[in-house]
Amino acid sequence: MAAKLLDGKTLAIKMKEGIKKDLALLKRVPSLVSIQLGDDPASVSYINSQKKAAENLGINYRLEKLDSGASQDELIKVIDRLNNDASVNGIIAQMPLPKKVDARAIAARIDPSKDIEAMNPKNMGELVFGGARILPCTAGACMELLNSIEGLDLYGKQAVIIGHSEIVGKPLALLLLNKFATTTVCHIATGERGCLPEFVQKAEILIVAVGKPGIVKGEWIKQGAVVIDVGINRVNGKLVGDVEFDQAKERASYITPVPGGVGPLTTAMLMKNLLEAAKMQEKES
Ligand code: NAD
Repeated sequence: MAAKLLDGKTLAIKMKEGIKKDLALLKRVPSLVSIQLGDDPASVSYINSQKKAAENLGINYRLEKLDSGASQDELIKVIDRLNNDASVNGIIAQMPLPKKVDARAIAARIDPSKDIEAMNPKNMGELVFGGARILPCTAGACMELLNSIEGLDLYGKQAVIIGHSEIVGKPLALLLLNKFATTTVCHIATGERGCLPEFVQKAEILIVAVGKPGIVKGEWIKQGAVVIDVGINRVNGKLVGDVEFDQAKERASYITPVPGGVGPLTTAMLMKNLLEAAKMQEKES
């Protein structure tokens, strides 16, 4: 039987409706500032979707652009200024940054209370203890998709993540552990040892975030598994995920399409994080 589609677009619309209602309860309209150093094309579409999502919700959005010749110190000065500006609720430093800039130092410089991508080590650390209110957006989006499945209880489930990046795989592993899923993280070395099929075959929950089209074969999927495909790859001008979708959907119980699965929810999560940040800041002021 073909799997049910986990429709990220519809979920994102619902989430944004909730955000809009909560925004109306704040004392003032929150502001989000995105800082871009250079012109990396990978950030352009993310910036456009942030801007669109913010504007649709009536959130103030501003892009501060530094030219590609700007130094790490100049970027830090901008972050410090925004950290100290009470009218700014959320700050994003667009990645990837040029090689001369230490991306970790930049993430750590953003005030944790304004760090709406949860990249500051303090916010990452909160994940360990299970009480984080601001979640890394893509990992949070995967959890929203899982939460949307009626009757799905993660307790004791075999969850397998493929990909151990700081923005997806690692935070997701903590979020799943916090729900008592039996969590395995596979990565490049697992792939190189040829062990991916054996891990995928036992996964009741499978989340793939690699960036290689078709790395997960449909025939490996356990019958009835929930499959979340984070990968975004362009093949012959078409966007596809990391999982062989047509074959996988014949075995899975639920599966995300690419596009239209994780992607739309990631931007919605960013707006949700801004709302949470603004609420916390209002409480503390
Ligand atoms: P990354 O390059 O930082 O990490 C890739 C991960 O894949 C690493 O952990 C690496 O060890 C693992 N890997 C590489 N080759 C492998 C192999 N042969 N076998 C097993 N593991 C292997 O990537 P990322 O930033 O985490 O992004 C991963 C994918 O998710 C990309 O396609 C990216 O475009 C997509 N993405 C989507 C969203 C979204 O909102 N939908 C957000 C972030 C990333």
